[in-house]
Amino acid sequence: MCGIVGYLGTKEAYPILINGLKRLEYRGYDSAGLAIHNGNSIVHYKKKGKVSKLEQEAEGQPKDGNLGIAHTRWATHGEPNDVNSHPHASQSGRFFMIHNGIIENYDAIKEALIDRGFSFQSDTDTEVLVNLIEDIFMEGALSLEKAVQAALNQVSGAYAIAIIDNEEPDMMVVARLGSPLVVGLDNGNFYVASDATPFVEYTKKAVYLEDGEMAVLRRNQTISVFNIESNTTIEPYIHQLTLDIEQIEKGGYEHFMLKEIYEQSRSIYDSLRGRLLPDEGKVIMRGVSEYKERFLKADRIIVVACGTSWHAGLVAEYIFEELARIPVEVEYASEFRYRNPIISEKDVVIAISQSGETADTLAAIKMAKQKGATIFGVCNIVGSSIARETHAGAFTHAGPEIGVASTKAFTSQVAVLALMAIKIGYERGSLAKTEYIQYLHELNRIPDMVEEMLSSNDDNLLGIAKTYASASNFLYLGRGVNFPVALEGALKLKEISYIHAEGYPAAEMKHGPIALIDENMPVVIIAQKNANYEKVVSNAQEVKARKGKIIAIVSPEDTEMRKIADHAIEVPETFELLSPLLTTIPLQMLSYYIAVIRGCDVDQPRNLAKSVTVE
Ligand code: GLU
Repeated sequence: MCGIVGYLGTKEAYPILINGLKRLEYRGYDSAGLAIHNGNSIVHYKKKGKVSKLEQEAEGQPKDGNLGIAHTRWATHGEPNDVNSHPHASQSGRFFMIHNGIIENYDAIKEALIDRGFSFQSDTDTEVLVNLIEDIFMEGALSLEKAVQAALNQVSGAYAIAIIDNEEPDMMVVARLGSPLVVGLDNGNFYVASDATPFVEYTKKAVYLEDGEMAVLRRNQTISVFNIESNTTIEPYIHQLTLDIEQIEKGGYEHFMLKEIYEQSRSIYDSLRGRLLPDEGKVIMRGVSEYKERFLKADRIIVVACGTSWHAGLVAEYIFEELARIPVEVEYASEFRYRNPIISEKDVVIAISQSGETADTLAAIKMAKQKGATIFGVCNIVGSSIARETHAGAFTHAGPEIGVASTKAFTSQVAVLALMAIKIGYERGSLAKTEYIQYLHELNRIPDMVEEMLSSNDDNLLGIAKTYASASNFLYLGRGVNFPVALEGALKLKEISYIHAEGYPAAEMKHGPIALIDENMPVVIIAQKNANYEKVVSNAQEVKARKGKIIAIVSPEDTEMRKIADHAIEVPETFELLSPLLTTIPLQMLSYYIAVIRGCDVDQPRNLAKSVTVE
């Protein structure tokens, strides 16, 4: 799940490439590299570590030229080191290529190439592909694009690639299958990238390549797109981007994650805006209305997702089952796709993915679609693969999320899913009109409540973070719709602070994890005043009896839980099913502060990448 950037035009390529890589670092950051054609030949630099290390490497070195490619890597084949970094050169040094994805049959091709006299410098699958292209090129004296096309027809797996030729200073060839690739167009200048953020300040015109398409970019000419397999020419559809440069900068915050936590009032509001009309008693969701009959007659909803989006799916399970009375199954996309699941035409599959590029989720919905299910997407990125693969959907409108640990995307997903459940519940007749109207008004209040919370809990949370920053383990407990919030809280802490943490349904604790509790174990308990409150209090007593340290998320007027807890964090009360939109937020803040105190790299935690475009 690397980030790729390319440029061909009249400007200096280097600053465009470096700044572009920095914006894509969320996709991977274990090594970086670039190659620039200066009109005569290609120079290249590669370095283990973040983009800033690459910048140091290139400092003072020649790097002029207005054609180039660059890459920030999240290794799949071969450890992160200088040699395995991209771009990879073909054996003769003529072609340089960057790649996001996995070439699954690389081993067999590598052996065949070794038999034909090729030798390899790196352990990557990418170097195999660039040499296959060179082999075909040399053998057949074809043009580069024909050699790329022939090579791609021999490989299986996933790729977004960009390749340049030492002998051709005016051309770049790009292609995609399963990994994202977008080309920005600006009067004969071409910007290539994994998403549009690297070039949003230069142009708003973009062509998103579809799976199985490649494009040839020639200086001062129009883009030419064609199908890799059939060779048919494709008329590119030019998207008009709405992304702004301010949206992808830190705006005074120390980290993107903190900025994104604080943006949640806005991002939830934006996700509901124009859709939720409480005074008119209306919910306008075009995607849901277009497939209304499918939702009304659905036997079952299957949610497919990974990571934090999977947690949003679990929250949705509680809300849909309660309000719409439709059975819901929440599946890890990676398990679902390989399990020969039973899917019928009366199933509605909801795919949740911030990036819209999550490889397992994408594959899962392709499979479910083939089996006749209706596929509905909940994604944050317009033009993403999942958004295009689904029958219908609802975008989350959270704005770009750069911090690798998801925060505002999660709450926006929950907001959109809750709105869907309320609408569908009402239309199915399982949610009475009065309750329906109450839900609309309550959901409408959430952005203000989030705003209020974010302006009040700060010092308390910081103090708690300081107390427990050196803990080695954390337990998170919740019941009902706040059980997935416990899972999400634990995941956030693991991701950015590297403290081992587990989320559990509070009552399950005594079936195992209670054995872990002693005076060194902080236990975060979501204990708001709702139907489960008394039960959660009893679970907290069980922790207390074993000397565990309790950090409780409580309602403002709570007294009972405060007596037991070592620390209390107040969260305003709302309808139980909507409470994850609020209870999640202090858990995000707690993880953030702990990670900062421990000196961790909050926005780019080790071993992670934001958009998981490999399976
Ligand atoms: N397979 C390539 C490598 O390991 C690209 C990795 C990726 O896109 O995640 O270098």
